[in-house]
Amino acid sequence: MKLNFCSLSSGSSGNCYYIGNEFHGILIDAGISASSIRKFLKDMNISLQTIMGVLITHNHIDHIRGLEVLTRKNSLPAFTTPKIWESILSPEKNISRDCIREIGLQQKFHLAGFDIEAFPVYHDAPETVGFHICAGDKKITIATDLGHICETSAPYIKEANLLVIESNYDEEMLAKGAYPYYLKKRIESDHGHLGNLQTSVFLADIISDKLSHICLAHLSKNNNTPERALQTLYTALSQSGIDRNGKHHISILNRNKPNEMINLIE
Ligand SMILES: [Zn+2]
Ligand SMILES: [Zn+2]
Repeated sequence: MKLNFCSLSSGSSGNCYYIGNEFHGILIDAGISASSIRKFLKDMNISLQTIMGVLITHNHIDHIRGLEVLTRKNSLPAFTTPKIWESILSPEKNISRDCIREIGLQQKFHLAGFDIEAFPVYHDAPETVGFHICAGDKKITIATDLGHICETSAPYIKEANLLVIESNYDEEMLAKGAYPYYLKKRIESDHGHLGNLQTSVFLADIISDKLSHICLAHLSKNNNTPERALQTLYTALSQSGIDRNGKHHISILNRNKPNEMINLIE
């Protein structure tokens, strides 16, 4: 069976990821408009009819912008925890009640041929989760929007063959940048976002041969550049004596357009 991954968009302007096989697919987050999601999928010859649901990480707008339309117009079921649903649903939000599916933290469920688990992460929302998605012995972990990697999230991250991990800000750019003091503190707090150095040091520590694909995600527009994120990771890996040649594919996920599809199993 195939296992494909593609980022449609990643960053503070909107997040949406696709994971699929030859029969079905799922989306993780719907942080761009439903029309952009439909267009990007169509460009990749993926029919929205094959999408079995959208998994939601938390209630921030860059993760749920297109959710209302996807549930109402496209009747797409949406999966997240009761606490995250509570934080999303409001009288103004016209999300189709028929599309609401509740899942438990660290409780496996089956969707579109995948075994899926939501795990809790620390972030400045009422509740935030990452997702661990398995197809046979291949595993994908999505961990964006987390202030630090805790004991609960680390095992899911270490298990991944393909890891989507946040590398939100360059520590120096954030410190010297124009953001107000309180916002800088919020971003770099334990409940904010992961910076380049934090992510890179962690990856250099846990990297193994099974981690074939590292996708650096959710880059800040104002406090990071793809070059800085990559260079920080390369430096951390070489300082730990890790030879990345050929073993680990490292990519930066685009802020406003899809990346190339990655096939984990052909
Ligand atoms: Zn976000
Ligand atoms: Zn967020």
